[in-house]
Amino acid sequence: MAANKKLLFLPGDGIGPEVMAQVRKVIDWLDNRRHVSFELEEDLVGGAAIDAHGTSLTDATLDKAMNVDAVLLGAVGGPKWDNVARDIRPEAGLLTLRKDMDLFANLRPANCLPSLADASSLKEDLVSGLDILIVRESTGGAYFGQPKMIEDIEGGQRAVDTQVYTTAEIERVCRVAFDLAEKRSGKLHSVEKANVMETGVLWRQVATEIGKEFSGIELQHMYADNCAMQLVRAPKQFDVIVTDNLFGDILSDCAAMLTGSLGMLPSATLSGADQSGRRRAMYEPVHGSAPDIAGKDKANPLATILSFAMMLRYSFDDGNNADLIEDAVKNTLGRGIRTGDIMQEGMELVSCSQMGQALTEELDKLAA
Ligand code: NAD
Repeated sequence: MAANKKLLFLPGDGIGPEVMAQVRKVIDWLDNRRHVSFELEEDLVGGAAIDAHGTSLTDATLDKAMNVDAVLLGAVGGPKWDNVARDIRPEAGLLTLRKDMDLFANLRPANCLPSLADASSLKEDLVSGLDILIVRESTGGAYFGQPKMIEDIEGGQRAVDTQVYTTAEIERVCRVAFDLAEKRSGKLHSVEKANVMETGVLWRQVATEIGKEFSGIELQHMYADNCAMQLVRAPKQFDVIVTDNLFGDILSDCAAMLTGSLGMLPSATLSGADQSGRRRAMYEPVHGSAPDIAGKDKANPLATILSFAMMLRYSFDDGNNADLIEDAVKNTLGRGIRTGDIMQEGMELVSCSQMGQALTEELDKLAA
């Protein structure tokens, strides 16, 4: 493959730099063993950028993010910056990136590897081998709709959030979900509350219309409350789920916990495709900066490594190397190697950097 793939690495704060360093090992391995090369730039975001530049995201960094093929982000935030002004706080940089890059489709896989099935709060047979992909609309809905305010009224206050969606907003995220369902099992659940919400009525109508273009996809509509119930009752009935910002926030965290550990969960957020089919994209682990273990070489780097595998799959159409990395993760865990967050009796406890090393050894074996 040509070495024209441009990446921006934003390690951020806390465990961000430690887990990103393990991705570099995988990138070096791909370069040496698979002749897959990246043009890689690194920059600051979050608290690290506040310390250096007085803002959590400089215009220059944003400009770089807009002009690469994909961004990989570690995590932002930590107690050191808890009291900085709201508009420069670490998370503000992340929100600006998502907004300015127009990353409206948040992909949250929830896979439960058989070797970690007993870490789930559900019975092993309900979750072992689970493989769900939640597509959450991430730039609209109740978190951004106007008006949004708290006002004084007689006898107290009145708080307003506005749930609002346009046809175009629903259409573009549904299209991403249908595309993904087509590449997976061909099954898609569209989730809303059409029984009590007007946005739900429109959502269902638009999803049904788009579904007519994807005749091979089995589309099912489901109310969000039922979906929450079904996720803990029989999660393996789902493959791809598409839903709005608010329901997606809740349902993706619920699905994530079926898999047992924050340290294992990758994510991607994508923009719409331009005329050449290119989507802007940012990949990041679901976990935060874990200040309690930062700098101690204890973090689990697998969520970030799996986020990089998603990047190969969705930004570079390189399913082969993405599969290889995901298989290496499975085999490494299958060999009983564990970081502290997923440690189980009788297993071998390793550091963050040792996990990165073990993974590249497993890649060597798989590629032999
Ligand atoms: P967190 O995800 O950082 O940590 C929660 C718990 O999980 C901690 O005990 C931590 O040690 C553990 N953990 C998380 N990731 C781990 C990993 N890879 N390996 C091993 N253990 C891991 O959430 P929090 O404690 O609520 O937040 C800490 C900081 O991170 C806050 O400043 C918060 O704002 C920020 N945060 C950032 C993001 C992001 O950058 N996207 C997301 C969530 C939280």
